[in-house]
Amino acid sequence: MERLADEDEVARWLREAAAHPGGVAVLTGAGMSAESGIPTFRDAMSGLWSRFDPAALASEEGFRANPAHVWRWYADRREGVRGAQPNAGHLALGEFARRHPGVLTVVTQNVDDLHQRAGNTDAIRLHGDILENRWLEPCPRGRACAVTEAVAGEPPRCAECGNLVRPGVVWFGEMLPLGAMEAAEAAVRRCRVLLVVGTSGAVWPAAGLAGTARRAGARVVIVNPHASEIDGEAHAVLRGTAAGALPRLLASSPNTD
Ligand code: NAD
Repeated sequence: MERLADEDEVARWLREAAAHPGGVAVLTGAGMSAESGIPTFRDAMSGLWSRFDPAALASEEGFRANPAHVWRWYADRREGVRGAQPNAGHLALGEFARRHPGVLTVVTQNVDDLHQRAGNTDAIRLHGDILENRWLEPCPRGRACAVTEAVAGEPPRCAECGNLVRPGVVWFGEMLPLGAMEAAEAAVRRCRVLLVVGTSGAVWPAAGLAGTARRAGARVVIVNPHASEIDGEAHAVLRGTAAGALPRLLASSPNTD
């Protein structure tokens, strides 16, 4: 079996990669924001919402069946995101990007805005933005829809055609935003080191980026306190958390910075 690298070796790879444009890419998932108090998908289904099926809350079918119910779940999550702050892991990535312009690409499956608030304003968002709204359908009249006054606890509707407002996230079974996956693939093909942080590796096509990077010759490093479905793609599996491990891995070195 292949020998896996340890944290010191990974930190050295990162310092070397930092000398190359596009040398470092990071793929993040819900675990990236766990230490900011935003629940992962599994945790989000606990407590008040544990009785509900994720597919009924995060799908177009579920929204059409019960718009008010899904809207309230998103309102709850939006409140959590607005109240959260970037953690030490987000800040370490923002700081690394500032120290090494043109080196880092952040690709995120997260729908929160914590990477952006930590300084990675050009992070590629594969699954959309939970703080945005969009129309459920193109306006059936071929014009712009207009919003009625929102009824509390329900999604706003177009006064003229009844079209509903929905959250700007990618639901189960939906296409990713145009160009996002292509940009992510280009970044992981170009990088020398891909850090995969806080993702279960169960959601595709994002999970495939680790294998794409590896086949293109990058070193793949997983940071996750638990096993993930893509550990087999990694040259190093670090059983730490995002806020714990990233500041150490990305710390500046007197020799290279
Ligand atoms: P997931 O919930 O399936 O998996 C989370 C992963 O994070 C797990 O492997 C877990 O072991 C790991 N983890 C937990 N705490 C961690 C920590 N402190 N540091 C590092 N890793 C930690 O998440 P996923 O793989 O991103 O896929 C679920 C989908 O749900 C994605 O599409 C994601 O966009 C969405 N989601 C997003 C958010 C958010 O935007 N913050 C939150 C919940 C779900």
